[in-house]
Amino acid sequence: MHVIGTAGHVDHGKSTLVEALTGINPDRLKEERERQMTIDLGFAWLTLPDGESVGVIDVPGHRDFIENMLAGVGGIDAALFVVAADEGVMPQTREHLAILDLLQIPAGVMALTKSDLVDAEWLSLVSADVAASVRGTALDGAPIVAVSARMGDGLPQLKQALQRVLSARPLRPDLGRPRLPIDRVFTLSGFGTVVTGTLGDGALALGEEVEILPAGFTARIRGLQTHKTKIERAVPGSRVAVNLSGVEINQLRRGMVLAHPGVFRPTNFLDGRFRHLPDADLPLKHNAEVKFFVGAAEVLATVRLLEHEMLAPGESGWMQLQLAEPVVVAKGDRFILRRPSPGATIGGGAVVDPHPKRRHKRRDAAVLARLEVLSRGTPGEMLLQALDTLGPAPLKDALQKAGFDKASAAEALEEISDQLIRLDGDALVISKAAWRKFEDDLGQWLHAYHSAHPLRVGMPREELKSRLKLSPRIFNAFLARAAEAGSVVAAGAVARLPSHTVQFTAVQQAAIHAVLADFWREPYNTPSAKDCLARLGEEVLNALLEQGALVQLSADVLLLSETYAATVERLKAHLRAHGKVTVAEVRDLFSTSRKYALALMEYLDAQGVTKRVGDERVLKG
Ligand code: GDP
Repeated sequence: MHVIGTAGHVDHGKSTLVEALTGINPDRLKEERERQMTIDLGFAWLTLPDGESVGVIDVPGHRDFIENMLAGVGGIDAALFVVAADEGVMPQTREHLAILDLLQIPAGVMALTKSDLVDAEWLSLVSADVAASVRGTALDGAPIVAVSARMGDGLPQLKQALQRVLSARPLRPDLGRPRLPIDRVFTLSGFGTVVTGTLGDGALALGEEVEILPAGFTARIRGLQTHKTKIERAVPGSRVAVNLSGVEINQLRRGMVLAHPGVFRPTNFLDGRFRHLPDADLPLKHNAEVKFFVGAAEVLATVRLLEHEMLAPGESGWMQLQLAEPVVVAKGDRFILRRPSPGATIGGGAVVDPHPKRRHKRRDAAVLARLEVLSRGTPGEMLLQALDTLGPAPLKDALQKAGFDKASAAEALEEISDQLIRLDGDALVISKAAWRKFEDDLGQWLHAYHSAHPLRVGMPREELKSRLKLSPRIFNAFLARAAEAGSVVAAGAVARLPSHTVQFTAVQQAAIHAVLADFWREPYNTPSAKDCLARLGEEVLNALLEQGALVQLSADVLLLSETYAATVERLKAHLRAHGKVTVAEVRDLFSTSRKYALALMEYLDAQGVTKRVGDERVLKG
């Protein structure tokens, strides 16, 4: 699942474009509709050509509401950056671009809107200008697509471009510690309290107990939705609405974080790496009062510069932030600082230590060295990264790839042992996130196969292996593990979902009944394979063979499994008593034809029950 967010100057056509793409008017507030201006975040979803349902967050472009924009863009995978073709790059185009860059939003598509208002020559000038203005930012090289929401021009191309950009984004990792920064709180009659947000770092499940931070009270998940559809489990990277019981709306507000109880600890201090915007108008001084934005939260903070008295525009440095109210952050979270008055974006950066020692000594070499190391990642994070680039690999390869000595290898393993899965004894290791992706893919392929072939017991393992594009060794190890976990049944040459059973229609049942009745009537003069095929059809006949109701002795001869089992027993007894048997004797023993007797004996030879010696058969072994 992915989420995109709009960005761009006011009146450049963001909301109109979102409505044209999704069919949903993202302006929720009465005031927004009256003023025809987005004031707060709007939410919608769109279906890409490949069928993926993508969450869309529409943000306000007006400079008075930029702080509302910040509450929405944190968790997005890609920006839908809007520039009106008739106006070109404007002040909030630049400010939004700077914010996306500070947040290191990993991808984007530039939409040149209102293309119906300009001619081709003007369009190419604006396009070149837009390409130049994103150069050197996180959106450098993003595709540029001209669209007219009014006429519908370019909308299919825009969806294609979004699909290309999003399909190159890895899925959000499942670190097993879900965090939902709350960006909206409301009540629905009949349901009670609902909060929404973009879920990160883990999954949420119906019925779970959760904690709302920083307040610290608990509630229970009574309902979950993504894109207005009820779900039982919400996955990382999706837009989620959570219906909570045990909490009142007046206890909740935007910026709080919903998480599993006891996992996160709110903090009033944090250390971070900060980049001051090059076109900021003033230097940032030690002890400056700022507004701090992280996730959907906004709090006042005091800046403690750890190296300098001030940072000039364009400079970077280490800082400790002392927050007026606690927030929930994790290492690596991106943040933005703004000047409270007159409002302006100063810069932003990444949290390096969410729970530092308070009030570091300034200009302390040891403090700065530790921050440098921390910013490169913990040993566990580096090992996970190595595993993600290697795929399933022996543990020693991953440790080597991460460049660990013995001590840091031990530290890494201890840190993330609960995020690793060992396969094939201990020979292969993968991260839990990679495992979940495999299980999802496995489930999807099996589900598709069962839908296409409802009468087949399961999907051939070979076909499944090539669909999943895995080597035999890794496939076997994965499948064995999935079977152990109960997410798949792997029996013989096929695999199936535990929930799948072969179910015949009433018409098929009636045909089966009639054919099997003929088999029972004359167990050794049964309908031919050709006859069965004509009366049952290929899928039903195959299902009966796969289920073992019928046994196929030769291209043309079928027996009921009951008949076959009794025949084998009787023949074995005969051979034990007499030592050998001829085809003619078999024919007489079962009052059947030579054709049936021959088919039976050849089949038993092939099964390793009997062995041919001249014109006679003896028991094998
Ligand atoms: P936002 O502030 O960026 O969300 O902009 P809106 O979506 O509210 O659009 C601003 C104005 O531009 C509205 O009057 C729209 O009707 C108009 N507009 C939006 N898209 C188009 C378009 O494709 N062509 C034309 N001609 N006008 C458009």
